[in-house]
Amino acid sequence: TRTPLVAGNWKMNGLAGHLVEAQAIAAGAAVHAGACEVMLCPPATLLSRLADAVSGTAVTAGGQDCHANATGAHTGDVAAPMLADAGARAVILGHSERRADHGETDADVRAKVAAAHGAGLVAIVCVGETEAQRDAGQALDVVRSQLAGSLPDEGVSGASVVVAYEPVWAIGTGRTPVEEDIAEVHGAMRAALTARYGAETGGAIRLLYGGSVKAGNAVSIAGVADVDGALVGGASLKAADFLPIVEAFA
Ligand code: 13P
Repeated sequence: TRTPLVAGNWKMNGLAGHLVEAQAIAAGAAVHAGACEVMLCPPATLLSRLADAVSGTAVTAGGQDCHANATGAHTGDVAAPMLADAGARAVILGHSERRADHGETDADVRAKVAAAHGAGLVAIVCVGETEAQRDAGQALDVVRSQLAGSLPDEGVSGASVVVAYEPVWAIGTGRTPVEEDIAEVHGAMRAALTARYGAETGGAIRLLYGGSVKAGNAVSIAGVADVDGALVGGASLKAADFLPIVEAFA
């Protein structure tokens, strides 16, 4: 069985003063240790301090992106071994904001996944359709295509890869798909992973839902088939908002 994972993506939010929220999240998550993994992905500038702040607790730290290369002349970029060195255990890759703001393609994401694995990091790979694509009936095709292109052939296991389904139109909007639509996409992702990597690996990879997850909808989303956790943006910034979501999945 898959241990749920609730990961907070702080995006471009968080200064040193925000570490008290990470500490409060770690304190509150302790009671759910073993039942639910909890991760916080702060901006790169805060990563090592956050990792130190939650060290020895049930909360782990992750990055939000990495370069495909381990070192080199890439001003402003952060390499996977640097994230690991700063205390990260995982890295979010292919978030729709990276795909939109930085033109990341599936091939780029696939190369980053390999880089993350090379540094011993879990890759949390994001996929999801736009509103226009859903309205055109293309959601499943888009997600299957992104999944096929964004994951490498080698190194994929339940321990090394997590997939997050984040419909672009649900991110930061307060709107979420109905449970039947989440179940349909997650079922299609499970089938695709099983077909490509075999039943054992396909059945072990955790599938997170992301997009406007809040305390008020977390219990119902957690009950959807093949939803093994959540990737949370806005509601991960404060312990009071995030801990009820952790509890919903524990
Ligand atoms: P919100 O929870 O703010 O909608 O963001 C979701 C997200 O993009 C997490 O990666």
